[in-house]
Amino acid sequence: MKYEKIRKEVLEAIQLAVHQGLIHGTSGNIALRDDTDDVVAITPSGISYVGMTAEDIAIVDMDGKWLEGNYKPSSEVPMHLATMKARPDVKATVHTHSMFATIMAMGENPEIRPITPPQCEFTPINIVPFTMPGTNDVADKVVNALGENGRACLIKNHGMFTCGKNMKAAMYATEYTEEMAQTTYYAKLLGTYEPMPEEGDKKMKELIFADQAV
Ligand SMILES: [Zn+2]
Repeated sequence: MKYEKIRKEVLEAIQLAVHQGLIHGTSGNIALRDDTDDVVAITPSGISYVGMTAEDIAIVDMDGKWLEGNYKPSSEVPMHLATMKARPDVKATVHTHSMFATIMAMGENPEIRPITPPQCEFTPINIVPFTMPGTNDVADKVVNALGENGRACLIKNHGMFTCGKNMKAAMYATEYTEEMAQTTYYAKLLGTYEPMPEEGDKKMKELIFADQAV
């Protein structure tokens, strides 16, 4: 099988996301870039992730052309490729329709802030207005929302999009963004919402950045 390593990594990540409840049914998609060949492994479109094999993971080139795989690539190829092209530091991208991230993108001025120190790595999280899925338009808006250093953004009435320097980093961004959204949701429901103080958030970001810079 060609591109076995990246296909296996994408398969493991999507099955972990299903196991964690971040992805249901056939929604959501995950991509990983292989620098050597300049191709991307991405989950297929409309196929259940349970029982999926590495051969089912699609391979596309950087223009989105389908090269390998039993099923056609996810319709969200533009969003994943646009992010990887705009951000050479990004090798892995994850898109989910996870419940709490979707809820926290609603309302007039949605805002999502860190509640616990590890979450500081993934903010600020910008909000993308609803845009038709699978289009270059939503891809451009996601790239804008992520900016130069962003790790996560929320797409209204759709879900979240996250990225990282490798699959582990992109998955952490997904897990912590959903955790942040879930904690915020329950705290607001209880009337006790209290995000981390801004000064603490700033200091944590400095520490995290210093660690990553080593
Ligand atoms: Zn979607």
